[in-house]
Amino acid sequence: MLDYLCKNSYIVFLNLHLTHLQHKENSLEIACLDLEGVLVPEIWINFSQATGITELKATTRDIPDYDALMRQRLRILKEHKLGLPDIQAVIAKMGPLDGAKDFIAWLRERFQVIILSDTFYEFAAPLMRQLDYPTLFCNRLVVAGSGMVTDYILRQKDQKKESVVALHRLNFRVIAAGDSYNDTNMLKEADAGILFRPPQNVIDEFPQFPVTRTYLELQEAFLRNSKEL
Ligand SMILES: [Mg+2]
Repeated sequence: MLDYLCKNSYIVFLNLHLTHLQHKENSLEIACLDLEGVLVPEIWINFSQATGITELKATTRDIPDYDALMRQRLRILKEHKLGLPDIQAVIAKMGPLDGAKDFIAWLRERFQVIILSDTFYEFAAPLMRQLDYPTLFCNRLVVAGSGMVTDYILRQKDQKKESVVALHRLNFRVIAAGDSYNDTNMLKEADAGILFRPPQNVIDEFPQFPVTRTYLELQEAFLRNSKEL
């Protein structure tokens, strides 16, 4: 009886082991990228420069509570009577960072790529066109008929991290890259996290992530961290 049980347990163990190996062999890798600071310039900083309203320069580095930051931005827009068309006019003159278009084309030949961003579809559209429309998960603005931005809708709290959690549940392996604080939960959740042109305080606080400064270095980091390439 004991012998039978041992033999059966061993077979179960072998099956589990094989399932695990098959799972690993069948797993596919997905590249998750932040948008602003990695592929395109910071939208709010550009808008702040274009309008001369310095308060609009604040980012999650200055105000870590994203809701508080967005409420401040909406209040300033209202005070200055600036609506979505004013912001879109500035964005229309922005383009991807130098080399970003070639980088994302390179990446999409090797991985399925998803852009995970805290920006809004209403802002990102003209920039996505210039990057040949990669998949983008971000948020939406609520805009009144007058063009004034009255509110914003977060699809999900901490969506960058939650997207990686969901991709893991779908048996994907994830390599993620971002430049700032709001990316660090995504980088931690990913199987491999890479920083691209981060500020010094992010480098100091998250020494576990390799730092890259050029698209060539970022390509090398993706290759180094891939199990399939
Ligand atoms: Mg960023």
